[in-house]
Amino acid sequence: MKKMKRLFVVMAAVVALLASAQPSRPKLIVGLVVDQMRWDYLFNYQWGEGGFKTLLRDGYRCNNTIIDYVPTVTAAGHATIYSGTTPAFHGIVGNNFMLHGKNVTSVQDDSERGVGGNDKTRGKSPRNLVTTNIADQLLLASDFKSRIVGIALKDRAAILPAGHRPTGAYWYDKDSKSFVTSTYYRDKLPKWVSDFNKKHRTELAYDQNNTPMGTTMTFAMAEQALINEKLGQDDATDLLAISVSNTDMCAHYYGTHSPKVDSIYYQLDREIAHFIDVLDQRIGRGNYLLFLSADHGGTHSYPRMTAHGLPSACWYNPDALKAANELLEQQFGVKQLIKAEMEYPFYINHEAIDNARLDYNEVMRAACRALEVPEEIQWAIDMSRIDTYPIPTILKERIKLGYFPGRSGEIYVVPRTGVYAGKTEWDGSNHGTWSQSDSHIPLIFMGWHITPGETSRLTHMTDITATICAMLHIQAPNGCIGTPIFE
Ligand SMILES: [Zn+2]
Repeated sequence: MKKMKRLFVVMAAVVALLASAQPSRPKLIVGLVVDQMRWDYLFNYQWGEGGFKTLLRDGYRCNNTIIDYVPTVTAAGHATIYSGTTPAFHGIVGNNFMLHGKNVTSVQDDSERGVGGNDKTRGKSPRNLVTTNIADQLLLASDFKSRIVGIALKDRAAILPAGHRPTGAYWYDKDSKSFVTSTYYRDKLPKWVSDFNKKHRTELAYDQNNTPMGTTMTFAMAEQALINEKLGQDDATDLLAISVSNTDMCAHYYGTHSPKVDSIYYQLDREIAHFIDVLDQRIGRGNYLLFLSADHGGTHSYPRMTAHGLPSACWYNPDALKAANELLEQQFGVKQLIKAEMEYPFYINHEAIDNARLDYNEVMRAACRALEVPEEIQWAIDMSRIDTYPIPTILKERIKLGYFPGRSGEIYVVPRTGVYAGKTEWDGSNHGTWSQSDSHIPLIFMGWHITPGETSRLTHMTDITATICAMLHIQAPNGCIGTPIFE
């Protein structure tokens, strides 16, 4: 009996010790990714109190955060921010890429089906993301008690941040004009999402891409997720990943510094202010950790640059593919030796080479030469021989960090700096290159354990997740290559 009592005392002491050793963690992490938000927009777009102004005043700001891979596009950016690693490891090499010889979107999953909306055929999932991300690590650290939700207008921007086992991921379906999900997550929309779609039927029928309404609906959905999924209400750290997509879609159409884009950022400033109020009231400023960043920046259009006498040029990838294939056909007598382009990555047609019994290396050399014909192109690189090219190390590393064999194109095309991928008459912005306009992104942390301040030393997109994991004392995602920012 005495022995039993002693054992009980020892066990109670162990339990107490374990409890006291629990690291204190925030109740909620809020990720706010603004699609195509250039770093300098932080300083262009400060209107009222509570939005960007509050983030700049109360947050810790990194002024020199860079994307370390190319191409700098949406799916890769969202995957990288939340996994702390680059496409070479997480596998999301673009918005579209080749998978088992088929052109797929980053989140396409034909083994799943749509839930909500009209089109039930197109399923989506994060299965193409081959590493874990911070959402997965939170689940592992909390013994799967954390609650994770991803919200965005774009599917990839809701799915990739939320990791592999979230409570839910919801995106806007423009056919049914409602927020939807996929059977990967659940077979039926939760009641709160159906109710949201019904309640906001009129607002959701607006053009979400090119009007501030898309911003308002994104944050309204996020607020409902916060309330209905009871995020930040217990000891396990939850994650709410919000991505603002219309900032990108509108800029692609109307261009940087266009009144349409300005109006969306104005609304974003207001929505951030409101959302911070909601978080402060429901969770408390010291109990949540919020970060704001972007999946990539954006270039000014050719008309905008040339109107002011600044250097710019255009290169249009579909025309480049056509012209290169014509040259290759003249040389080898075979059509379509380059199968496809995904803007900068070009895919070689292995089947056509084999069928015509051509020499693969000879075709590759000729294909690179053909793609290098336009003066706007500096290098067309055979990726299997990248180390033999006289490319500056900084750029070579970024190309390698974006390359995943089997998914990426065998040839990577690098335009001269400042070349815009598109047509001369287009007013819209674009992105995808290594240059400052596309790779310099905003980064601010605010809330739990954050002292206001700033640094201008070089930090990286991959450092965001590394920093949060280090602050929370949880293991970083399995592919993480970032370094915690600890000023
Ligand atoms: Zn984007």
